[in-house]
Amino acid sequence: MAWVLYSLIGVLVVLLFVIKRLIAKDTPQNEKVTLPYKKRDDFLSAAELYFYRTLGMYLGDKTVVCPKVGAKELVFISNCVGKDYMKFFNYIAKKHIDFVLCDAKTMQVICAVELDDKSHQKEGRKHRDAFIDRVFATAQIPLFHIKAQSSYTRNDFTDILNCVHSAESKSFVKSAQTAIKIKKETPDADDLVPICPKCGVRMVKRKATRGTNYGKEFYGCVNFPKCREVKEI
Ligand SMILES: [Zn+2]
Repeated sequence: MAWVLYSLIGVLVVLLFVIKRLIAKDTPQNEKVTLPYKKRDDFLSAAELYFYRTLGMYLGDKTVVCPKVGAKELVFISNCVGKDYMKFFNYIAKKHIDFVLCDAKTMQVICAVELDDKSHQKEGRKHRDAFIDRVFATAQIPLFHIKAQSSYTRNDFTDILNCVHSAESKSFVKSAQTAIKIKKETPDADDLVPICPKCGVRMVKRKATRGTNYGKEFYGCVNFPKCREVKEI
């Protein structure tokens, strides 16, 4: 019966070899293969470029506009979704947002903008837009839809500019609070580990390894660096 065992081992070795080859197909193995890639001249369409330049005129230099950002760079999958992780990941993996506005200093995301042209009226596109709206609402990133036009006035950007100004004042308050280090009157009990307000998971105790708080313990999110929520101890 030993031959059965040897045959099984043989089959397993072949299977492992095939699986390894399949995984390696992510990138070409032969470096001599001529690659067919050419630079695209239409990174932004004429409508997108016009919108980008007009919006830039209304924003100060404290805000950066990033075009065509992958949704997976903006949100992450929180909590224990277990085997459903790839399902939720694939829903967003190939979706892009037209413009993302970030704080120029920290590159933290302030809000996102979708420039809606005629293609957004198609059924499939409407379904996709509704899903993206839900994703961003869940992740608490304001997402604005602006209709593509041949010219814009300041009114077309009111919601976006209000959002940017409110983010600027929030970040000012936050940095002021950090500077004067407001002490809590009722600190958390040592045995009471806080829950991350963003992810809803229990936080973990960490020690600052640099900066002005060097050596100080604090609670951080297990999803760091994707989630940077912290709580003082
Ligand atoms: Zn978190």
